[in-house]
Amino acid sequence: MATKTGTWLIGIGVCFAFLGFCAFPAAFGPNPDKTLLSGGLTVLSTGMTLVAGGLYIKARTLRGAAVSGSASQTNRGRKASCEKCGKNEPVIQCRVHQVHLCGGCLGDHYDFRTCAYVPSTRRSTAKGAAYTHAGRSLTLS
Ligand SMILES: [Zn+2]
Ligand SMILES: [Zn+2]
Repeated sequence: MATKTGTWLIGIGVCFAFLGFCAFPAAFGPNPDKTLLSGGLTVLSTGMTLVAGGLYIKARTLRGAAVSGSASQTNRGRKASCEKCGKNEPVIQCRVHQVHLCGGCLGDHYDFRTCAYVPSTRRSTAKGAAYTHAGRSLTLS
């Protein structure tokens, strides 16, 4: 909702700024008109203020979304633990055996003939990296 308002403000502001720019050629033409120049500058600055306001609203909305998103991520991450020792945070998932493993247990589980590893999606930190690499399997063979 607020993002839409910000987009509209930016759009209207850009229109205002364009109108202000349109007054410049007339102001600096063969017959300079100082009234037109000041009028154009006023419209231009009004447009820029609107754009800045729209950007501010958008940035504030994005920050709020990021805060709520990371909060839910920590709640999910608290439950995550290695499925072999149950103590450490899982860093990798074996897609073949469907187990999440920490760094220590990865060495014990390692089987080069069958196992295919992907970074664990249950990791609470670096969630962006986990999402980007989720589809790519790290086959250790
Ligand atoms: Zn473990
Ligand atoms: Zn495995």
